[in-house]
Amino acid sequence: MKKISRRRFLGGGAACMMSAVAGQAWWPLADDTCEAAVTGDIRGRVFKGDGPEKLWQWSREGFVYTKLEGRKVICEVCPNLCLLSPGDRSVCRSRVNMDGKLYSLAYGNPCSINTDPIEKKPLFHFRPRIKAFSLATTGCNFRCLNCQNWEISQAKPHEVPYTYTLFPEEVIAAARKSQAESIAYTYSEPVTFFEYMIDTARLARQAGIYNLWVSNGYINAKPLLALCEVLDGASINLKAFNDDIYRGLNGGRLQPVLDTFKTLHAHHIHFEMINLVVPGYTDDDEMVKKMCAWILDNIGPDHPLHFLRFFPRYKLNRLPPTPVSTLSRYRQMAMQMGVRYVYVGNVARHEGNHTYCHNCKKLLIERQGYVIPTYNLAGGRCKFCDTVIPGVWEGAGAPSAPGHSS
Ligand code: SF4
Repeated sequence: MKKISRRRFLGGGAACMMSAVAGQAWWPLADDTCEAAVTGDIRGRVFKGDGPEKLWQWSREGFVYTKLEGRKVICEVCPNLCLLSPGDRSVCRSRVNMDGKLYSLAYGNPCSINTDPIEKKPLFHFRPRIKAFSLATTGCNFRCLNCQNWEISQAKPHEVPYTYTLFPEEVIAAARKSQAESIAYTYSEPVTFFEYMIDTARLARQAGIYNLWVSNGYINAKPLLALCEVLDGASINLKAFNDDIYRGLNGGRLQPVLDTFKTLHAHHIHFEMINLVVPGYTDDDEMVKKMCAWILDNIGPDHPLHFLRFFPRYKLNRLPPTPVSTLSRYRQMAMQMGVRYVYVGNVARHEGNHTYCHNCKKLLIERQGYVIPTYNLAGGRCKFCDTVIPGVWEGAGAPSAPGHSS
């Protein structure tokens, strides 16, 4: 792989982000990036006239868009449905209208690559201990006030000082070289580099490498269905069970994410749900109960659910961390309601780090950070009572996705 030398770090967007951080309020209600105040719908907040003068080697025409009159285009990858006039840049910052065509500017141009343990995604029921060759480009279709990776998610491709040239064939070679059995599209928001992700995923499928999608799940049906054809596992954020919170905290909406869960479930794709518990935003007991009830009614009890501890970040850096007692309570609540595999994340040495058989309750997988000292599954079954454990396991034959266990 070829690492690109330091590029000119353009000041516009970065300066905007920096001033936003410097001017943090105790209780931010708005995403004050370069366009309008929060409307609860970021669809209209494209970057007018901000496109580049010419394309570059990492430009690829979009796969899912429609040309309109007046050389306008509408991107149909995610529910933001960005409507771009010539010269405009998308809400997710990495797509532009160039002379009446939609282009991704980040194809083969990751800004972050790493080889991670799969447990870091987190994916706890998918081939424990394997490595995930992980990559991200800049860009995100959300504006989470607590974003951990805002330096890349809220940046335009040319604003990130170090990037790589890594076209899909080179990703496969790099994954093999790092002895990773999987490729994870992660860190920022892979929906925004859909073309790069799916081309790479198709090659990975041919090469016998797993494809893992770590995402906010904010994607339209057509690209999601295409992705389902090559996807092996997913770790999807369910940021809240309230549309107003999705709009205010994340700049998105709830229903499209729920639709994504239903589609993945219908296509027998293993996925795990991630709920970050943000004090004052998503630590509402009634909301968590409603969320668990929806899960049980719509996708059943077997998809793992992770409650993660929030730590102060980005524009919410003055909030306190989530009390561990809140996470423990939510785990108990979810399990009492019937969700079978509920975890607590970002808290070391918590009983909710481990996997217990939903039938006999014995310890199946002990986790010490990303190390697994105890592993009591054989062929995807509990060693003690022979119950099939939902997930994708070594020696289990065909994947047993939740709700579709063999
Ligand atoms: S992927 Fe990006 S350009 Fe396409 S609709 Fe979503 S935010 Fe807009």
